[in-house]
Amino acid sequence: MILAQKQLECHADVVTISSGGTPGQRREPQPVWLPSPADRSLDVALEVLIHGPLSRTEIARRLDLSQASLTRLSVPLLEAGLLVEVEQRNDGRVGRPSRPLDVMAASRYFIGVKLTGERAQAAITDLRANLVASAERALRGHEPDDVADVVAALVLELAAGVPAVTALGVGLGGLVDDHDLVVRAPFLGWTSVPLGRMLQDRTGLPTVVDNDLVALTEAEHWFGAGRGLERFAVLTIGAAVGYGLVMHDRIVLSEDSGVGLVGHWPLHDRGPLCPEGHKGCAQALLAIPSIEQRVSSALGRSMDYDKCLDAAAAGDRAARRVIDEAGRGLGRLVAAVGNLTMPQRIALGGEGVRLARVAAAAVDEGIRRDRDPNANPLDLQLLDGDAAQWCRGAAVLAIQTYLLREPAQRRG
Ligand SMILES: [Zn+2]
Repeated sequence: MILAQKQLECHADVVTISSGGTPGQRREPQPVWLPSPADRSLDVALEVLIHGPLSRTEIARRLDLSQASLTRLSVPLLEAGLLVEVEQRNDGRVGRPSRPLDVMAASRYFIGVKLTGERAQAAITDLRANLVASAERALRGHEPDDVADVVAALVLELAAGVPAVTALGVGLGGLVDDHDLVVRAPFLGWTSVPLGRMLQDRTGLPTVVDNDLVALTEAEHWFGAGRGLERFAVLTIGAAVGYGLVMHDRIVLSEDSGVGLVGHWPLHDRGPLCPEGHKGCAQALLAIPSIEQRVSSALGRSMDYDKCLDAAAAGDRAARRVIDEAGRGLGRLVAAVGNLTMPQRIALGGEGVRLARVAAAAVDEGIRRDRDPNANPLDLQLLDGDAAQWCRGAAVLAIQTYLLREPAQRRG
């Protein structure tokens, strides 16, 4: 079932990529602008994807190429339909007119899947990560083969709506090795599941799998709130609390990307306990199940997350107390990220992001409490928090990895 058809206009200014390493080893991020000398066409494609449209002179200057080399590199990209000459912009200069190059956004389609414990959500995007359509399916259980069957069916259903799909990206909460192996995904009860290969076998599509926060951070960095920024952070609130960081234009990855380290950051000395026994850590104070549980127990009836926020917004004092306490904690977490990693912007997302609107004053109070009054104000930007954002993140993983790949033949 197609749930949404929309177009989002997005461009990007920044280049990073994570690429595969030796199987079994945690990969290190690799800069994509330093490929083998034979593959400088990738440089050209990426430069135009992220900064285009660009004149040939500008591309040559940015990549330190001669005009002759640029012509040699760009002809196959033009012939493959990946790049296109667009109408000249009138810059008022006299001389031989030249037509700038841009990517043909609709020349390639990618599918991004966000996998939770309950469902698989998927979106199809073009080359610039503009959303084309989305769909979702409930999981029947957590057996890896069953989950892979559901995801593959969803992917093939979406793929049928476009001429061809180049690659598939999957994001999930957990630790993923080598863009393929799910080392640990607690909400699915998985250890060591080669999900990338299982999906590639079922769909015929080249597939990359990674932690969902890594995927979202990459997507916001290339095409969203972090566009053009050297230092950028993402915080998410949802079933868990997540954090992603870009430094010097590159995402920061480690062996623990996917463990959820920020979840246990202390925020409140007298707050609730998390399963690990921390009092008032981010997970205990901000995660959706924890907020639902505390508001429900304060009001003596079962409340879902939106109802908790609605009650606080409507002035219910018990709900307000829990929500404001969480808001102050969120403000302190934002201040900690600002103080320790000095980002130019912090994007706040995840399906629980509405907390930052309902408890805006408490968030400000929390930030002020932990921030030096002489420091610059933090640039905090709220993301939509809808599922499509996670799917788009997963699609960007596929774009980064398989940009130059010809669209694959469908299977199934
Ligand atoms: Zn904790």
